[in-house]
Amino acid sequence: MSGGARKYSRLYPLVPQGLGTGLVQSQTSLICSTAAAHSVYVGKLLSAEFLPGIGKYQQDRIGGPVNAGLYKAAHALNGFGTLAIDFLEELQRLTGQNNLWITTMIPSGAFLNDHGLFRRERSWCPHCLAEWAEGRQPLYEALVWTLQNYEVCFRHRAKMQNSCPRCGKTSSMLSAKMRNGYCPSCKQHLGQISLYNNSDSDYRASEKELWVASNLEELILMAPDSDACLDRPLDVANMILAQDKALDPQAKEVIQRMALGKLPTLAMVLEFCRHFGISLSDFFCQPLERLVVNAVESGPVGLSKRVSNRRKVDREAVSEKIMQQISGSAFPESVTVLAKILGVSSLYLYQEFPEIVARISDRRKAQSKVIQAAKEQKIKEIVFNAVWRLRSSGLVPTARDIVKLTGKPFLFQQVKAVEAYKEAMCG
Ligand SMILES: [Zn+2]
Ligand SMILES: [Zn+2]
Repeated sequence: MSGGARKYSRLYPLVPQGLGTGLVQSQTSLICSTAAAHSVYVGKLLSAEFLPGIGKYQQDRIGGPVNAGLYKAAHALNGFGTLAIDFLEELQRLTGQNNLWITTMIPSGAFLNDHGLFRRERSWCPHCLAEWAEGRQPLYEALVWTLQNYEVCFRHRAKMQNSCPRCGKTSSMLSAKMRNGYCPSCKQHLGQISLYNNSDSDYRASEKELWVASNLEELILMAPDSDACLDRPLDVANMILAQDKALDPQAKEVIQRMALGKLPTLAMVLEFCRHFGISLSDFFCQPLERLVVNAVESGPVGLSKRVSNRRKVDREAVSEKIMQQISGSAFPESVTVLAKILGVSSLYLYQEFPEIVARISDRRKAQSKVIQAAKEQKIKEIVFNAVWRLRSSGLVPTARDIVKLTGKPFLFQQVKAVEAYKEAMCG
């Protein structure tokens, strides 16, 4: 940019809450915060600022100007379909920001089928809301809360709630007068713990619920930095099929589906990872050879094995072994794999060694960035090459031609591939 002209954005550029944690704010919640920052209702913000920009096609889909149709479909704004992307582009344009895709599941679009991925209604942890309110922190709603499989808050081990403790109503991800952390019907603050049923506050989260919750948080935390792995499900499936191991029917179904080039659902991948005792972020981010070695060596992890981990653990010995495991390795094992090597539950590591767990996660993130940059470069080369080859045989290359030529069914679910395609076609 030249001439010293300073660019002002049309709307306040709010930084999403919870950055760098598994509880990063969702796009719908960020839209809500943005409305509040301008002292207008969500409905007004959408009709005055968003809808003029998002185009006729999208307006037809959601039923013209802001109305019930949009609010009903609002959960999709946190996903990876065109509705999410169109609103994201608009939010970024209006606020002059360029990294808000972390408030959506766009990074996962390359490897997940969105069937059953999202809740249609808001869901929250009352304890998180209460804590933020007490600390006078801005209230917000986390992206991970919108996922169907996230059933308990990992920090509070508390059940997620989805109906107002006062009026009992549920609400959609966005509504005309919504405020983060409040019921749109009766205006009740949703972090008022005393109003909830006792049975809910005494809730004892199961090991599986906590495992799923921590894995989903890790996925959201890592996805922005890590490779939204192109062809990953296909590669994993082929490697495991090549091992020719006896598999239980559920794992087999997932693998066969992936081997056919169909995207698995999040629930399937979770089952798969639990079956092989690997973490979700390993599935997507760990180098393939290492992942398959881990999965095959350890074999299916049965529940009985997990329960036996509850026996008394020698903390000193575990601590020493952890240090051995992570020292000297640029890309340490994930917490799940580490726990398995050490013969303890991952929950135990999260609870007893929070600072080491955080260090592992930092190291893995830094390394993932390097891998990510290399893969992005590779994607770009693949697309550029394909465009060049198709052009030199006298064709105007379409996305479908490129998929066919490269044999990569997931290629254009990668944001980077779409960008490279646009660049190649313009250049
Ligand atoms: Zn919580
Ligand atoms: Zn209410």
